[in-house]
Amino acid sequence: MIANYHSRNRILVTGGAGFLGSHLCDRLIKEGADVICADNFFTGSKDNVKHLFNNPNFELLRHDVTFPLYVEVDEIYNLACPASPIHYQYDPVQTTKTSVHGAINMLGLAKRVGARIFQASTSEVYGDPEVHPQNESYWGRVNPIGIRSCYDESKRCAETLFFDYHRQHALEIKVARIFNTYGPRMSANDGRVVSNFIMQALKGEPITIYGDGSQTRSFCYVDDLIDAFVRIMKTDDSFTGPVNIGNPTEFTMLELAENILELVDSTSGISFHPLPQDDPRQRKPDIGLAKQVLEWEPKVPLREGLKETIDYFRSTLK
Ligand code: NAD
Ligand code: UDP
Ligand code: UDP
Repeated sequence: MIANYHSRNRILVTGGAGFLGSHLCDRLIKEGADVICADNFFTGSKDNVKHLFNNPNFELLRHDVTFPLYVEVDEIYNLACPASPIHYQYDPVQTTKTSVHGAINMLGLAKRVGARIFQASTSEVYGDPEVHPQNESYWGRVNPIGIRSCYDESKRCAETLFFDYHRQHALEIKVARIFNTYGPRMSANDGRVVSNFIMQALKGEPITIYGDGSQTRSFCYVDDLIDAFVRIMKTDDSFTGPVNIGNPTEFTMLELAENILELVDSTSGISFHPLPQDDPRQRKPDIGLAKQVLEWEPKVPLREGLKETIDYFRSTLK
């Protein structure tokens, strides 16, 4: 049935044509929701959602969240924001505007229509952490004036706004701190480590390791992450987060490279390059809160998720 104002499952996904947003749209449509996807296509693409164009419960809006948006919805997932360092550093002022003005507009919208609102926050709020693994009570160690600051600080400010709208206007908020996620529909040229290594392995080019490759990350497969998003949105009113969402299995970048080379059966060598400024040494989520409140934990092991992702990138090369 096509939704109208009587329906209670009209959902806005900002950044819905991006990597995570498009998987979220798929999941919500599958659950029978009426989905409005708002995106300015800065890093996302119509390609990611074109399979939904014929679905009457799906609507695509070209919209920049730094401008007000008037729609009638019951839930909002706010994902709009470039996520990879090369994209968010391309126009850092716009990155901050997207996170901060975007949050204000979406919170204003949620306030007007009484919608529940989810914020895609990030492990970057912890900066280069002194605490390992990171749990939600850790306040972080973020450089306010570095090249990652436009992203880290604006995401922190967005969290502040969410909690102030919650306290001041009794908004129902859900804040998730997302750790590194990978999977099909990551953009091939976004400079992130998983997409870089896979593309390099597939093309037989050298794998570019920044620094000595001993820095660590923990990679979550996209399906696991989206499952957590939907669970967070369904928690009762009193649960606001922030809650860490990610896979706690930690790997060095050298281990990641070795896994990808083996799975692709690639002849690529490895080349070492300087470590970018403010690159966190180690990162691993403490997901105790997510386990307890959401009864959630990631299920897809790295090698399995990498196989799906490699198949996706291989298909884009044809
Ligand atoms: P992505 O770049 O693929 O998606 C972001 C989407 O937002 C894109 O479709 C882009 O076009 C859109 N967008 C950017 N600026 C916009 C604006 N001003 N108005 C409207 N749309 C805009 O990145 P992603 O990996 O899908 O990330 C989605 C969200 O999750 C982001 O908020 C990101 O900060 C957060 N996150 C992602 C990860 C990860 O590992 N992928 C980790 C932590 C946090
Ligand atoms: N806003 C929006 N859609 C709405 C309602 C509000 O985009 O349906 C924007 C509006 O432009 C405003 C922002 O959200 O700038 C914050 O709204 P709020 O009501 O909190 O503040 P105010 O309008 O008083 O500045
Ligand atoms: N990295 C790397 N080679 C690349 C791209 C990234 O060694 O081609 C490293 C990067 O320096 C960082 C890690 O991989 O230590 C994860 O980088 P990514 O940009 O994917 O995510 P983030 O730094 O935001 O966690």
